[in-house]
Amino acid sequence: SIEEVEDQPEDLQPRAPIVTVMGHVDHGKTSLLDYIREENVIAGESGGITQHIGAYGVTLEGGQKIAFLDTPGHEAFTAMRARGAQVTDIAIIVAAADDDIMPQTKEAIAHAQAAGVPIVFAINKIDKPNANPDKIKEGLANMNLLVEDWGGKIQSHDISAKFGTGVNELLEKVLLEAELLELKANPNKAAQGTVVEAFLDKGRGYVSTVLVQAGTLRVGDYVLAGQHSGKVKAMQDERGQDIEAAGPSTPVSILGLDGAPQAGDKFNVFEDEREAKQIAAKRAQLQREQSVRTQRH
Ligand code: GDP
Repeated sequence: SIEEVEDQPEDLQPRAPIVTVMGHVDHGKTSLLDYIREENVIAGESGGITQHIGAYGVTLEGGQKIAFLDTPGHEAFTAMRARGAQVTDIAIIVAAADDDIMPQTKEAIAHAQAAGVPIVFAINKIDKPNANPDKIKEGLANMNLLVEDWGGKIQSHDISAKFGTGVNELLEKVLLEAELLELKANPNKAAQGTVVEAFLDKGRGYVSTVLVQAGTLRVGDYVLAGQHSGKVKAMQDERGQDIEAAGPSTPVSILGLDGAPQAGDKFNVFEDEREAKQIAAKRAQLQREQSVRTQRH
């Protein structure tokens, strides 16, 4: 059932960091996520990442893993937070070195700070002739955000998302930051996590990308996510490959739910299918009543 059993320290195992990329429009969020997605054949895994499922996992040369939320922009971040979902461990904030610190840069910083999520700055577009990374760092310093090469503690790295310059080093800094957080989860229990996105696929039915945050999700598990539920018929990773089990910090798309839950909805695994269905129905009814009330007002 949905009741939370407290994990004992000995149950906890290290887990990969979950990272969101934020920043001002056109500063290079998509380019950075695309570069990392396309380049991550580094670890010699077969096949590139072909699917856009809202999140993907990469394995670095040293074997360390990072899970990326592949929904650039802080709309996704704030939408999830509004639903009470805290999935991000670390925020990469992209700031273009040929521009100023812009309103959405400041917003992204504010969001990360409000969520208590450490920031790693990616000072982007350093390949451009008019790039001036120091101007950005000075701007950050003026906001009381001192990056490392300005004598502070906040990590930053100069990159070109277009050419991939500095991206590996940026990811190393993300991993350093992650080490400080000592991220852990218990893989040996029923899975729980958060929905990243969901849609109706013509051939496959409802496809929901979820991020497992604790426990292990398995094919055959009965899942309740927001107002929807169903038995997991199949699971696929970001390479479109079928997988049987997904542990903590693994993004995975699942088939078998009876509808599309919303981004930020939590999911849980139920032993009792009927109980899960009842809760889903109750939530749907509450939602209907609420919308009737708002219409009246
Ligand atoms: P987003 O709105 O933050 O997702 O920004 P995009 O990734 O879509 O990038 C906006 C524009 O900047 C695109 O035309 C990219 O090709 C370009 N761009 C992104 N990163 C770099 C970079 O490192 N160098 C250069 N020269 N252009 C870049």
